[in-house]
Amino acid sequence: MDISEEKLLRAAQPLIELAIAEDIGPGDATSEAILPADQILYGRIVAKAAGVIAGLPVAKAVFKRLDPAVEFIARVADGQEVTAGELIAEVTGAARALLAAERTALNFLQRMSGIATLTRQFVDAVACTPAVILDTRKTTPGHRLLEKYAVYMGGGLNHRISLYDMMLIKDNHVDAVGGILPAIERARTAYPSLPIEVEVRNLDELRQALSVQPPLERIMLDNMDLELMRQAVGITAGRVPLEASGGVTLERVADIAATGVDYISVGALTHSSAALDISMELIPPAARAAGPDLSQRVAELKARLGERLIILAHHYQRDEVVALADFVGDSLELARRAAQTSAQFIVFCGVHFMAETAAVLARPGQLVLTPDPSAGCYLADTATLEAVRTAWERLADALVSPETEITPITYVNSSAALKAFCGYHGGMVCTSSNAEQVVRAALEQRRRIFFFPDQHLGRNTARRMGIAPHEVLLWDARRFPDAEAIRRATIILWPGACNVHQRFRPQHVQAARQRGPDVRVVVHPECTSEVVQLADDAGSTAYIIRQVKNGPPGTRWAIGTETRLVQRLQRDHPQQTILSLADVPPFCRSMSQITLRNLARLLEELATTGAVSPVVVDEEESHWARVALERMLAL
Ligand code: SF4
Repeated sequence: MDISEEKLLRAAQPLIELAIAEDIGPGDATSEAILPADQILYGRIVAKAAGVIAGLPVAKAVFKRLDPAVEFIARVADGQEVTAGELIAEVTGAARALLAAERTALNFLQRMSGIATLTRQFVDAVACTPAVILDTRKTTPGHRLLEKYAVYMGGGLNHRISLYDMMLIKDNHVDAVGGILPAIERARTAYPSLPIEVEVRNLDELRQALSVQPPLERIMLDNMDLELMRQAVGITAGRVPLEASGGVTLERVADIAATGVDYISVGALTHSSAALDISMELIPPAARAAGPDLSQRVAELKARLGERLIILAHHYQRDEVVALADFVGDSLELARRAAQTSAQFIVFCGVHFMAETAAVLARPGQLVLTPDPSAGCYLADTATLEAVRTAWERLADALVSPETEITPITYVNSSAALKAFCGYHGGMVCTSSNAEQVVRAALEQRRRIFFFPDQHLGRNTARRMGIAPHEVLLWDARRFPDAEAIRRATIILWPGACNVHQRFRPQHVQAARQRGPDVRVVVHPECTSEVVQLADDAGSTAYIIRQVKNGPPGTRWAIGTETRLVQRLQRDHPQQTILSLADVPPFCRSMSQITLRNLARLLEELATTGAVSPVVVDEEESHWARVALERMLAL
């Protein structure tokens, strides 16, 4: 990360002084008049809307500036997504100091979190491509480092910080000296060690910029339409990284990324983000302990429901949910356990497709329930039945006898409808634990596979099996591959990706290597193949857990998977050092939707009124999805 916490606080310090002088001036008249000087209060800083948090060190510095004795405990980390109502931090200290600091601290936190939240939306929108989201210099005067830090927490990368750390030759520079080449020559002569980026307006200027030797660090495609960008990517052929700039909106960004550009800079990240709604509630410290103990309540309800209930939880769930589960596992283990249990109520703490899988495997009379049915999965949502069907029809058109030439395989992270599609067409389901086994079995039957929705798991599996890169075809719904390319392919990949695992980058592996030659890098196969190839090892969640369990004391790990699991592994294995591979560790937003509160509410309803809404899968869909799942479970 370019902007360390220390650098952030150095930049924030004068802004905090200004803000306090502006807001408090000679004193907080209301609090000083009403509150006793020795009154101590406890405050909860809470998200009122879902978003990504950034700026906790700055908020803490504001409270400490008003009273160094204030205790500030962050309950989430910068870069972490929170749900509405989630506790962000707790503060305890003199009531007057807390109230005087509140507005200024929240102003910093809300604005920075707003930028991080908007950045994450852009990052998520391009998660199925290798494109990277960049910020610009369109920042609030004086707040540049704070805002660029927030962009980084949102998952974007920082463009140049200012005019001194990189040269960006723009159209005005070019026009002033009469061309791209003289402008580059002058720039190189004056500052030979500074990286250079050149803005081009058309393909002619692009060709000139590409002719420069040694190659430029980057070329900016300024305000080009999609077709021109595609042509620019084709002409450049990877020789120089390309950045798309101008008119980038959330609606357009996925199309821009699909042209194949490497970077997309977005001024809106910093000039048009709305503040994230965050508030602080103050209560006397004594009242803090009097709140309801939800863990205890869930335990009581579990005891009341007895053997009629089983709670299954995925490893990426919150600790407090995992602590109350009867069984914790990855997708494959949970599918197996769901198929074996005789409990009447299967409460599934995971995302929707997992609960659907349990519903498909459930016996008559069993009800599958989830504390939040809206907890979807980014990856699963990249492939709808309709879009996959369209692709299947195109594939079938290119083949002589599709039903004997191609097998559909869906990763378990997909809707029941897609599992049913596979069951109906002679295919099956796979998980990250058994993808290789499933693909091998399918290739013994038919010579070609259509693999969805995760392109990275598919590509990584193909590579492990020795399938050559030219036999792997990435489906492009915007520009259908030609029939010849389809016939040549052994595996056709749906262009989906997980927005959590996609955030691990090759640079993270390189940074982990710098921590020492003994650091073991292990990643999930939903990471990109560049990351997987640089890592020491890759495997499913269960595999990663086994590797750590078998690690001798003193082993140091950098792990590329969901952060809650990584943090739990560190707590369970204190004699080893276990860190996330990324410097801003990614959490799964969908998994976070399951909370102690909605679990308690569900069990309360189950134990009292019985008025609950089970996860239901259409009968025929359920039949064919079960066929696809059972083919996998039988392997
Ligand atoms: S980590 Fe990725 S694949 Fe897993 S549930 Fe979250 S979004 Fe889906």
